[in-house]
Amino acid sequence: MTDCIFCKIAQGIIPVTFVHQDEKVVAFKDLNPQAPIHVLVVSRVHIPALTVPEASDPKVLGAIFNVIRQLAVSLRLEHGFRVVANCGPEGGQSVPHLHFHLLGGRQMNWPPG
Ligand code: AMP
Repeated sequence: MTDCIFCKIAQGIIPVTFVHQDEKVVAFKDLNPQAPIHVLVVSRVHIPALTVPEASDPKVLGAIFNVIRQLAVSLRLEHGFRVVANCGPEGGQSVPHLHFHLLGGRQMNWPPG
């Protein structure tokens, strides 16, 4: 999608610090980190949110969660981490392109804000 910031990042048009790239998924450091490690794991295909039917594609979700699992190892998050998907306005989603936040490197609290 031409106007989507994460599509532009996945295409290399907007520069980011990538920590993973493959044919289905890219992962890069969040611009505004909320933890010592804060990575966004993003589908290459433009899916606006978890709530749309395309988001149930097991190939896409499986690829994303496999990358999350690999990053948890490569980023040395063996003591724990958090995976977050903000969905819709009340969920705090600001970029309408399917993505998961991988946060770690500090104690996480509950409830989240
Ligand atoms: P969300 O609010 O859940 O939709 O998450 C969107 C995330 O994208 C936020 O944590 C932003 O800090 C992050 N973000 C927005 N623009 C960029 C960018 N150019 N590079 C890296 N992260 C970004």
